[in-house]
Amino acid sequence: MMRSRNACTDCGAVFPTHPPGYIGDRGYADYPDYADGARVCYPCADVRARADMAKALRFFAYLGRDARGPILTTWTGGILARCESVTEREGINFDGTSRFYFRAVAPDGSRWYGSGAGYGMHARMHRAKR
Ligand SMILES: [Zn+2]
Repeated sequence: MMRSRNACTDCGAVFPTHPPGYIGDRGYADYPDYADGARVCYPCADVRARADMAKALRFFAYLGRDARGPILTTWTGGILARCESVTEREGINFDGTSRFYFRAVAPDGSRWYGSGAGYGMHARMHRAKR
């Protein structure tokens, strides 16, 4: 099926147009791994990420912070879970850098744990047994 490449597959929002040679934030996300070849806006990318996470035992996220405290987000900044605790273990990595261990709860009530290299860095999440 032919789809518009200038609008979000999921919600129909029209993407910003950029002049030739534009370098920077494109304003959309491509999903080559999805059968529908989706191109979606960031809010819809967050919706897809949350749906994927709901089915996952492990998930890739970013450790971040908002006004209420530490959070785990999608790459577009959508909140996946709120951290109940974040513990820095100093110098634990082979190169002497710290690692940040967290426990978190997603909006659907699922519990997660994992670690990352720090705020603004990627983190690996694992679904907790309970
Ligand atoms: Zn959308």
